[in-house]
Amino acid sequence: MNEKKKSDLAVLLDYAGSYKGLTFLGLGLSGAAMVLGMLPYICIWLVMRDLIAAAPDWMKAVGIARYGWMAFGFAVAGIAVYFAALMCTHLAAFRTASNIRKQGMEHLMKTPLGFFDSNASGLIRNRLDGAASETETLLAHNLADIVGSAAMVLSMIVLMFVFDWRMGAACLLAAVVSIAAMFTMMGGKNARLMAEYQAAQDVMSKAGTEYVRGIPVVKVFQQTVYSFRAFKQAIEDYSAKAEHYQGDVCQLPQSVNLTFTEGAFIFLVPVVLFMAPGALKTGNFTGFVTDFAFYAVFSAIVSTALARIMFAASGTMQASTALRRIDQVMSAPVLRITDHPQKPEDNSVEFKDVTFTYEGSKIPALDHVSFRTEPGQTVALVGPSGGGKTTAASLIPRFWDVSSGSVLVGGVDVRETDPHVLMDQVAFVFQNDRLFKASILENVRAARPDASRDEVREALSAAQCDDILQKLPDGMDTVIGTEGTYLSGGEQQRVALARAILKNAPIVVLDEATAFADPENEALIQKAFAALMKGRTVIMIAHRLSTVVGADKIIVLDSGHVVEEGTHTQLVSAGGLYARIWADYNQAVTWRI
Ligand code: ADP
Ligand code: MG
Repeated sequence: MNEKKKSDLAVLLDYAGSYKGLTFLGLGLSGAAMVLGMLPYICIWLVMRDLIAAAPDWMKAVGIARYGWMAFGFAVAGIAVYFAALMCTHLAAFRTASNIRKQGMEHLMKTPLGFFDSNASGLIRNRLDGAASETETLLAHNLADIVGSAAMVLSMIVLMFVFDWRMGAACLLAAVVSIAAMFTMMGGKNARLMAEYQAAQDVMSKAGTEYVRGIPVVKVFQQTVYSFRAFKQAIEDYSAKAEHYQGDVCQLPQSVNLTFTEGAFIFLVPVVLFMAPGALKTGNFTGFVTDFAFYAVFSAIVSTALARIMFAASGTMQASTALRRIDQVMSAPVLRITDHPQKPEDNSVEFKDVTFTYEGSKIPALDHVSFRTEPGQTVALVGPSGGGKTTAASLIPRFWDVSSGSVLVGGVDVRETDPHVLMDQVAFVFQNDRLFKASILENVRAARPDASRDEVREALSAAQCDDILQKLPDGMDTVIGTEGTYLSGGEQQRVALARAILKNAPIVVLDEATAFADPENEALIQKAFAALMKGRTVIMIAHRLSTVVGADKIIVLDSGHVVEEGTHTQLVSAGGLYARIWADYNQAVTWRI
């Protein structure tokens, strides 16, 4: 990438798409509005000039009504144009935010499913949503204010020097001092302090979230908030940093800044006193007084302009952090989709010398793993926890793509298959399959949206869910997750199995959940498994070895390696790792009985 890094603003405006022009129009109008807003001050000067010239015979100042109306007209026009400006920037900002959301979601649809494993999808969506709306403030308000303030400052500078440059310079000096004070707070060494202070705030809010998540643990173990050291530490760190930055660093410059923005007038007085004798001599004392009156009124708006700029500047900082978050989403890896998909030839599944390492991990989770499942066969993956079983299963639907080697379904590399075809051919039941907050019917039908009610009922029945339907108030139409309709872990798994049965895919990948305590559920789940596996190619990860005994082939995975391979009888007599696991399992079962 030798392309120069685009500025945040350019990136944002690119998201605006066809509404980019509207942003510029809005900004132009905002500048014009500010200039219009300055014109009444000239009218005030004209009024004062006429009044002072006519004094004490006030009636002679006939022009002042006209100036009054002009001032009023300019002020109204300024407001109207500003309103139009905000209309434009808001329209563009809303479009930009919605484009960001749309493009972000489109991008996320292309990322491998595994990405959501390590990044909860709700969190990503919230982050994208939050960041998108934060850019709204920048585009709709801050930018318009920055351009407006710039126009204001420019016309202010012009106005300052139009009437009397010495008095103008005095007002300007006040502005310069307060800007300088503002920059000492944010620049140089203090910039680092400010960044640290903001980072501490970030850490604290993250620790707060962790704390809220951990409340159940706190309650169960009768702990107090003090047990959350990280949170306590984060709060203390933040308060120390905040105190140091705001107290030690900002106190003086902020006082100076406020004094000079609010009291620009102070500079004006000595200058005027100094100039007064000279003005008296020239004889144009009335002009001098008019100018003084003008600058006295005018100096008050300097502070408004500066406050606006400061506010807008903080808005751009916020927008740039928002953009960074959006960028994180947009730079998530995408699943490469082939342009020339090949059709799977049969229902076999094969791992050919597969190595896979999780991002950020040093040791491969799977290390040169090879095995093959013939069509209609059942292959079981067993082995100690962390051996790589779930990882192997996840590579089949491309939750992740292999680091090297290949995973073949129907003789075709999954990366060379049309993802839709792959998903049609393979049904997955994973340990953490979640049911949506919808009716059971909808939950099961998610596998095949065109399935009829009867087909869904049959699938539920095959998955041994009849007892669940009977106890629910509206049977299949009961929305689960609502009051009084929670399903136990085992029940949820049976509904998930019904979903896989309805899908009727020729290949099934099963990551069996760790044993559920009650034996009744266990027996039902076994039956549901049997219904799902019948006549299909099955890759299963079984924790109850009783399910494994009948498998055509057992692959024993340990630390990412295939350490043994064979049928149950072969492996038991071989006396290796499997035989040991089997012995342990039997002992555990005996103990339970
Ligand atoms: P099993 O299912 O056999 O218990 P896994 O496939 O879940 O084993 O894990 C294999 C290895 O990969 C383990 O060392 C585990 O810590 C690691 N691992 C699993 N999931 C992830 C992940 N999302 N990110 C990083 N490492 C992971
Ligand atoms: Mg696992």
